[in-house]
Amino acid sequence: MSSKKAKIEKEPIRECHDFKSRILYICDTFKYKELLKAENEYCGNFYCFDNNIGICLFDVEKWIVYGEEHLDPETNQIRRYCQHKYYTQIIWHTHPLTSKNYPSIEDIQKVLKYDKISISIIFTSWGIWQINYSGKYRLSEINPKDENVKKMGNDLHDDTSRGRIYNENAVREYRQNIQNYYPGIAVYFKTWDNIYEHKYVIRID
Ligand SMILES: [Zn+2]
Repeated sequence: MSSKKAKIEKEPIRECHDFKSRILYICDTFKYKELLKAENEYCGNFYCFDNNIGICLFDVEKWIVYGEEHLDPETNQIRRYCQHKYYTQIIWHTHPLTSKNYPSIEDIQKVLKYDKISISIIFTSWGIWQINYSGKYRLSEINPKDENVKKMGNDLHDDTSRGRIYNENAVREYRQNIQNYYPGIAVYFKTWDNIYEHKYVIRID
């Protein structure tokens, strides 16, 4: 019972509060990069564990959800996505290698809609996206079919050879467009090459 793992499991699982003065990071991003090889999305919730470096984010394996196929009632098409069992302050999900490398309109709007969520992390083949939002929009201000937001995603898709080739400038433009459109939201992105020792430090604003 002296292994590190046993020690972590003994700690009470807790959500992340009062982290603003400390380094908050994802302990092992490699694990999530591996999940991208799966056919469907994975999603889960991050919890906090204090150590000597800072506060490390981890998830509870048995609570990770594997995205199933869902029938979209509007288009009558099968879509594969992951539904969180519940929302916490910091949530995450993957976009498998076969899907888009950037946040969907639903991903962007989710943090605006739910009070509970402050930070959403998305693992994609290009790297790690982070969306922060701590205010609240009225639901009436969020249009799930917003053509302007759709266009921002489509432009990024076009400027990256239909999502195949990463383009730093196009990603910067996409982030700025989203931030200008929804004041108060912050969108960050880091390529896998810029993540050292599999540790991703969370941007706090
Ligand atoms: Zn997504």
